[in-house]
Amino acid sequence: MTSSSYLLYLVSSVLFILALKGLSSPVTARRGNIYGMAGMAIAIITTICLPQIANYSLILFGILIGGIIGSIIARKIRMTAMPQLVAAFHSLVGMSATLIAGAALWSPESYGIGSPGNIPGGRLIEMSLGAVIGAVTFSGSVIAFTKLQGILSGKPLRFKGQHIVNAALAALILFLLIMFCLSESRYIFMLMTGLAFAIGFLLIVPIGGADMPVVISMLNSYSGWAASGVGFTLGNPLLIITGALVGSSGAILSYIMCKAMNRSIINVIFGGFGSSPGASAQGDKSDKPVKAGSAEDAAFLLKNASSVIIVPGYGMAVAQAQHSLREMAAELEKEGISVKYAIHPVAGRMPGHMNVLLAEANVPYDSVFELEEINNEFATADVAYVIGANDVTNPAAKNNPQSPIFGMPVLDVGAAKTVIFVKRGMAAGYAGIENELFHQDNTMMLFGDARKVTEDLVKALKA
Ligand code: NDP
Repeated sequence: MTSSSYLLYLVSSVLFILALKGLSSPVTARRGNIYGMAGMAIAIITTICLPQIANYSLILFGILIGGIIGSIIARKIRMTAMPQLVAAFHSLVGMSATLIAGAALWSPESYGIGSPGNIPGGRLIEMSLGAVIGAVTFSGSVIAFTKLQGILSGKPLRFKGQHIVNAALAALILFLLIMFCLSESRYIFMLMTGLAFAIGFLLIVPIGGADMPVVISMLNSYSGWAASGVGFTLGNPLLIITGALVGSSGAILSYIMCKAMNRSIINVIFGGFGSSPGASAQGDKSDKPVKAGSAEDAAFLLKNASSVIIVPGYGMAVAQAQHSLREMAAELEKEGISVKYAIHPVAGRMPGHMNVLLAEANVPYDSVFELEEINNEFATADVAYVIGANDVTNPAAKNNPQSPIFGMPVLDVGAAKTVIFVKRGMAAGYAGIENELFHQDNTMMLFGDARKVTEDLVKALKA
């Protein structure tokens, strides 16, 4: 590699770091994205111009196919399907890491790492780590994708002795990894990689829907480490740096999310955490009565309030109700009513999901608050307007140790003078559990599609 390519790689690394910094706040996220795109463009062009690149037509063909597929997906994908898309992309990173490690083993000369039977030990270690982590990432991400897409049930699938099987498999993979590094045997490589695919599958199937956000972020981290391992095999410093950035930022995000959900990071890494055999997976089967109201009733309550806290959730994203919600807030603000938005760290189906939608509707950033900033304010709020959110408000997280979301901090909407729940029926949220708040005396259910209901409410407010 020439010194100018090293320099350009350094520039892209700095741009990637600036991108991560920018993405840490909705205010700077757009700029962060631009830094990331610029960094990636420099990285790709520099790599294509490296002297060892032999086949341009194959690369351009790959870029063309990937570019077309990527553009179609980016245009068509719904915001609510973003988590499964991310999981699908992670699976591709994992698979390519495994395939590159395999290719390097079968044809080490092409990678400048010796000849068959004479690959240096250090290279074998990098290669096997890339293959194993890549395989775990691939199968784990495929399972996460099928669960999020609803192909597999979001319920935790567990069997007796699962942790013992996982521990035995992990020990066996470690043993095979050592044997492979000592022998450079292709059979051991294939066996080790096959077992890594199996453990990725076994680690993710027992994880329930409510814990999926952490899993996605953990798999993101794994895919980064796999790419980093491959960077060593390919002798590409930028891939090592980028992989390490993705690996460490994914691990930090997982840690922050675990803290937000009161989960143990160790349990995430080893799989099967947070699910409880007592978890119910149906909608609300309770015979207790619920009070349902109309858009006019809700408009009356809101108009007579002096402070309103809006709690958006997944249903708002499905209904694309953010614009009518913003309009509703504007109507209330005209009347001098204070309107704030409360965002739970795992509301929706991906970290930051609600922030992105509210930003799209031009909701001012200074009226959007994180859980810990606003939770105490529900007790003094007149109305909590919960739109398409369920699990993130469920008090079972505090008072039912059997619940799969037990220990997760929730928004205390029940403490407000009146709670309005906007949803289509009595169906459960992602975690599949009942929400006793629906039956509380100060709750009014406003049944219907979140967007339609909010539009009716705006009309009623204007009238
Ligand atoms: P929930 O999934 O708990 O609840 C969403 C509610 O929205 C449902 O009860 C549903 O009820 C209602 N809904 C759906 N469509 C509409 C619509 N068109 N109009 C009105 N209401 C609608 O969402 P929350 O945001 O409260 O919680 C997120 C859950 O997702 C958590 O369990 C979290 O762990 C999990 N998760 C989060 C991820 C993240 O990173 N944020 C990733 C993966 C999972 P009904 O059908 O009756 O209308």
